Amino acid sequence: MEAAILKDRENQIFIKEQSQGEIACEKSSLAGSVSQRACVFCGSRVVLYPVADALHIVHGPIGCASFTWDIRGSLSSGPELHRLSFSTDLREMDVIQGGEKKLERAITELGELHKPSAVFVYATCIAGIIGDDIAAVCKRTAEKLGVPVLPVHSEGFKGTKKDGYKAACDALAKIVGTGDISGIPKVSINILGEFNLAGEAWMIEDYYRRMGVEVVSVMTGDGRIGKISKAHGVSLNVVQCSGSLTYLAEHMEEKYGIPYIRVSYFGIEDQSRALYDVADFFSFNPELRTKAEEIVREEISVIMPRIQYYREKLAGKKAAVYVGGAFKAFSLIKALRLIDMSVVIAGSQTGNKNDYKQLEELCDPGTVILDDSNPLELSRFVLEKKADLFIGGVKERPIAYKLGIGFCDHNHERKIALAGYEGMINFYKEVYSSVMSPVWKFAPRNNRRKSHE
Ligand code: SF4
Repeated sequence: MEAAILKDRENQIFIKEQSQGEIACEKSSLAGSVSQRACVFCGSRVVLYPVADALHIVHGPIGCASFTWDIRGSLSSGPELHRLSFSTDLREMDVIQGGEKKLERAITELGELHKPSAVFVYATCIAGIIGDDIAAVCKRTAEKLGVPVLPVHSEGFKGTKKDGYKAACDALAKIVGTGDISGIPKVSINILGEFNLAGEAWMIEDYYRRMGVEVVSVMTGDGRIGKISKAHGVSLNVVQCSGSLTYLAEHMEEKYGIPYIRVSYFGIEDQSRALYDVADFFSFNPELRTKAEEIVREEISVIMPRIQYYREKLAGKKAAVYVGGAFKAFSLIKALRLIDMSVVIAGSQTGNKNDYKQLEELCDPGTVILDDSNPLELSRFVLEKKADLFIGGVKERPIAYKLGIGFCDHNHERKIALAGYEGMINFYKEVYSSVMSPVWKFAPRNNRRKSHE
């Protein structure tokens, strides 16, 4: 199979030590290329979804709501309002006559029924096209219900998934700063961009608690409006998913003077760095660093023997990595290197120039680096590079399975935690089970290859 690469996409594909110049990125997706990216609305939805005590109302046709219904695992330790997906179900007559009245009725009725701490109202393509004044409806209903009703300006057509992240951050920024911050200690942080898919936020919070650091709010994993409202009381923002929540971190730096650092909780090296960096920020209290070192020592001594087992089994295997934000790709490359696996394809949907520069430095010569790729390109390079494993999200899973190689979900839908030290073992176990599964020997591609040999 030799799929053509669209001419206008050639500069978004870079092969280390073979391509000239630098990769093009941060562009709108090329029409006809069937990008792996989702729309603006989906970008907002994935960021705000885990706020568990808020109502999430999608103002649009039912398809938008069903597309993002229960889109993340996002566990909650309390209310589960987030798991209900509400839609105004806009139809032809609403398109002709406007959907504002319908939206107002929906917010009022659902608000009285569920008594949420806040309401997020998502604008979709249709709401944007017919020009409903969502902000005005939100203002009116907030007065009636007595809770924040926040418009999320996420009309699907108006940009990329990244614009959706920004719209979500704008909505969160309206909640931050409204709560009482008395009693928040100096050694305190927010964790931004951790979505608690399989309980990771709880694991990470626990590491920081053991160090003596108070986590005031996680955005948005196991999220609560009350905690988000107090987020401006901390000394430091720790940003994990750089693509989605950096806007909010920058806003909080500007408005409240709270600095932020970028971390990753994936992989031994990056997880440990995430603890050390926070300890070093509070360097006036050297005990934090001592405790961080103790935690790292303790946790690594438990998992190292098991990692050795997986290294012996998986050394020499090759992986393709295609994820949303490039920061995750860095951690994945390092984690795979620890078990002597190489990454032959590395790409992201939303990376910027700096991200790709770092990615290039980290990758081995010959690695294919892709920005905003599509199924044809991914399939072509997976075959060309003879990858044994694909690490991606829901849209990459069928590509891997159709090509007859192992797959590891590193995105919204997984049910097993991959972050932290314990998560590393889960990750290697999943990689091992998938790559070594005997089922791949029955894949048509592998059979074809054998019959030609
Ligand atoms: S907002 Fe637009 S692009 Fe997004 S799911 Fe709805 S119709 Fe599709």
